[in-house]
Amino acid sequence: MTKTSAKIRMYKVGELGDCFLLTFGKAKKLSHVVIDCGSFRNSSKSKTRLRKIANHIKETIGQNPVDLLVGTHQHNDHMSGFAHAEDIFRDITVNQVFLSWLDNPKDKLRGKVLEEHKKIVSALRDIQKANKGVNMDKTLKDALNSLIDFGAKGDGPVLTNKATELLKELGQNDIEYVSPGMSYSLPGDLSELVKVHVLGPPRSYVSLKDTSAGKKETYDPHLSFLGVKADALNRVAKVEENYPFNKKYTRKISDFNSVDFEGYQEYQNPKFKWRNIDNDWKSMATGMALHLDSMTNNTSIVLAFELVDSNRYLLFVGDAQTGNWNSWTNIKWEDEKVSTDDILENTVFYKVGHHGSHNATQPQVFEKANHPDLIAMIPVDKSDPNLTKSYHPWKMPAKNLNKRLHDKTEGRVLRMDDTKLDRKVNWTKKPKIDKNLFVEVEII
Ligand SMILES: [Zn+2]
Ligand SMILES: [Zn+2]
Repeated sequence: MTKTSAKIRMYKVGELGDCFLLTFGKAKKLSHVVIDCGSFRNSSKSKTRLRKIANHIKETIGQNPVDLLVGTHQHNDHMSGFAHAEDIFRDITVNQVFLSWLDNPKDKLRGKVLEEHKKIVSALRDIQKANKGVNMDKTLKDALNSLIDFGAKGDGPVLTNKATELLKELGQNDIEYVSPGMSYSLPGDLSELVKVHVLGPPRSYVSLKDTSAGKKETYDPHLSFLGVKADALNRVAKVEENYPFNKKYTRKISDFNSVDFEGYQEYQNPKFKWRNIDNDWKSMATGMALHLDSMTNNTSIVLAFELVDSNRYLLFVGDAQTGNWNSWTNIKWEDEKVSTDDILENTVFYKVGHHGSHNATQPQVFEKANHPDLIAMIPVDKSDPNLTKSYHPWKMPAKNLNKRLHDKTEGRVLRMDDTKLDRKVNWTKKPKIDKNLFVEVEII
């Protein structure tokens, strides 16, 4: 008897971003799932492309509903398409929506995380305000502009908020704010044959803040730098008046005008500018803003889709980073028959975390995924300006991770920028590459 199959289509968003259409099938029964739809930039080109993709999803499913629609986390490159193609998505019937417990306004822990988060964001925004027009570091500016507020009104990024609101609306009949350990039957015709298990995001602020990879927590330790320790974020949040440095210790230049301050002349001499620490806070603040941005990655929903009749799993991790990965081993599963090890050992498909960055596939966890049929997909496009820029280009996919993925899958790694298949690689079923629109593989 044929087993339940799964088609996984990764849309080519043309830059960094995620948009996946899953089609599960058994005999004549079908079920569709959409996971994320977004791209990094919001250029008119990005927008046009995302609308084309949304229309293509609609065309593909025809009169069928999307049984499950997932928004993994509040980053533009995963959500913007829902906003840019709102009208198209509104035209699709959606049976169930997954957002994370961090999107649930009634969740108490979410409230606490949000409060801490807001303090840091507001401290960073103060820096931005106080330094308007003053030689503001571009990285800091970018980071501040992309910060999330978990839907907080007023200053949250407009697009991700809009997208989240749309998802809530589309899921009004059945919206699940998922937490680790929960298991669901996929709504629709295949509910007995496809189960969805939730591994992340962890319900722990400590885990959410843990975004950097220790030496053993990455395949690419050379890319791992501690940056800003999670602790620093906590301290900042507690500092008086939401200022990154305690006001007690800050001095303005004007304070020195009236006093006979030895060395002041030298301090003002442009030749010795490099000795000033005035701007040092900027690199600290930049680090913090970037860390906060990584924390958003860590709020990613992580799902394992179980093909029940063959005990195989498809693992979608969004942009989950170290703390999210580490938390999976301690999940208390609602259904005692489910176990994280069983999921990992029988994973036949892996959606690579955070576009292949060094801190989004944790070796100690991922090495448990040893199924001989393993296939991996990396939503990465080498033409993305973040990857090609000369100053600090993003290493995606990270070199050693990429190599390990190829080893483990015997070359069955697909990317958004693939235009043809490597002939030497063996596939149970040959993937389909549509040069313009998608890369697709079928698990049979
Ligand atoms: Zn992200
Ligand atoms: Zn992303």
